[in-house]
Amino acid sequence: MATKTILVIEDNEMNMKLMRAVLQLSPYRMVEAVDAETGLDLARKEQPDLVFMDIQLPGMDGFEATRIIKSDQELKNIPVIAMTGFAMDGDKETARKIGFDAYIVKPFKVAAILEMIDGFLGNSRPDK
Ligand code: MN
Repeated sequence: MATKTILVIEDNEMNMKLMRAVLQLSPYRMVEAVDAETGLDLARKEQPDLVFMDIQLPGMDGFEATRIIKSDQELKNIPVIAMTGFAMDGDKETARKIGFDAYIVKPFKVAAILEMIDGFLGNSRPDK
């Protein structure tokens, strides 16, 4: 089976470093973008299996980028997890209405990120 790919779109270097550290614990390949436009290009090129999407990005924001992904026939089935500084009213339905499949709230907890990966892609820690 081909290695699954996770695309992370995040402009904050500290958060990107954390994602990198966490995803190194997983068997999956990570590709990175620091803005939405580059992220969308990468999504089309790499056809990732999962996307972590920051909301506040320079230029196009994560809401708009997710709307574009979810209206693209080739991309719309890829799960998009919002990385947000707010809890979306603590409501998973709110996230879904916006177009996200799920969300995690900053500051990230490693366990929460791994749980998301487990949930969408299967076991992130095969040696566990
Ligand atoms: Mn940001």
